[in-house]
Amino acid sequence: MVNLLDFDLEGLAEWCAALGEKRFRAVQLFRSIHQRGMADFAAMSDLARSLRGKLAACAHVRGLPLLSEHVSADGTIKWLFDVGGGNAVETVFIPEADRGTLCVSSQAGCAVGCRFCSTGHQGFSRNLSTGEIVAQLWFAEHRLRQRQGCRERQIDNVVMMGMGEPLQNYAALVPALRTMLDDHGYGLSRRRVTVSTSGVVPMIDRLRQDCPVALAVSLHAPDDALRDQLVPLNRKYPIEELLAACQRYLSAAPRDFITFEYCMLDGVNDTPGHAQALVELLKGRVACKLNLIPFNPFPASGLRRSPRERVLSFSNVLLRNGIVTTIRKTRGDDIDAACGQLAGEVQDRTRVGERMARLRDAIPIVAMGGVP
Ligand code: SAH
Ligand code: SF4
Repeated sequence: MVNLLDFDLEGLAEWCAALGEKRFRAVQLFRSIHQRGMADFAAMSDLARSLRGKLAACAHVRGLPLLSEHVSADGTIKWLFDVGGGNAVETVFIPEADRGTLCVSSQAGCAVGCRFCSTGHQGFSRNLSTGEIVAQLWFAEHRLRQRQGCRERQIDNVVMMGMGEPLQNYAALVPALRTMLDDHGYGLSRRRVTVSTSGVVPMIDRLRQDCPVALAVSLHAPDDALRDQLVPLNRKYPIEELLAACQRYLSAAPRDFITFEYCMLDGVNDTPGHAQALVELLKGRVACKLNLIPFNPFPASGLRRSPRERVLSFSNVLLRNGIVTTIRKTRGDDIDAACGQLAGEVQDRTRVGERMARLRDAIPIVAMGGVP
């Protein structure tokens, strides 16, 4: 069985062509799946009956089994999906006054192993397929419409900031991004889809050529010695190479700046000296905005969140030097949906399995046939 969520429109058109179907049929099918949230071919009444029969024989539209849904007091919603083998990934919806943002996972676990990230501590399990990445948006968009009882678009922004390093799952990522951008799919603009990366330099260059969406780079340190400790991938692609790739990316980027993420760790990377070093590093070098993220602690990290005053004085040094800086609000704290907490209290894969078993007992699994 072929899962049609695995295809971007071009892929679906080729697959349909092999079945002897014209391109406009593929467009109809793609729109039914992504814009209307349908999974049941029999209900796609705009398709010829003969095609519906052919599809049912060899394909399906299969989302991820939902393990749980948590709604936070601030409206943030976290979904936990089963990806098999005792692994789960999480997807978070963050509502704001004027827009809705979905934070999407790209891998079960992550191989980069950043010190401050609970996904990193969990280790790498496997890449998600295109269909598994797209399924998170497919589910969330139509789930939200169902909750709101409306047909209007609910998700305006997608950020690849859930579990995993998207640029270490490049082959699956690109068709997923294309489906998000496609007017027959989710119709999101390139500025409203953000890939966040810990700095996989060659893949930043490929993304610039293949699908230049907005780019966020997780910097976290102003020099290689410290960044080597926090983001081990820095030993392979040091800061100078990373910044050069960012500069190249700007030529194709949908925004005229790169966002740098900087997670504020008490006594580690948050002194005025670090702020000054960051200014020296970035000023006049790469057009950027800096996003200071309050660290979300988890026990195995042995790290603490920087006190508020220190974040403010850090931010003031940057602002005084003309670097646009924002301090990110934390959202969904009460349901462990904040950055880097996406593995919840879980620290290793065995425990993920245990937790999932508990969740399975506690929460009915929602079948993913048609509109969820
Ligand atoms: N792998 C990609 C995208 C997923 S992580 C990347 O590293 O960019 C998304 C963001 O969450 C990154 O900026 C990451 O540094 C941040 N993050 C990870 N763990 C965190 C934590 N415990 N507290 C706050 N931010 C965290
Ligand atoms: Fe992986 Fe990103 Fe977490 Fe680092 S911060 S371990 S790259 S998910």
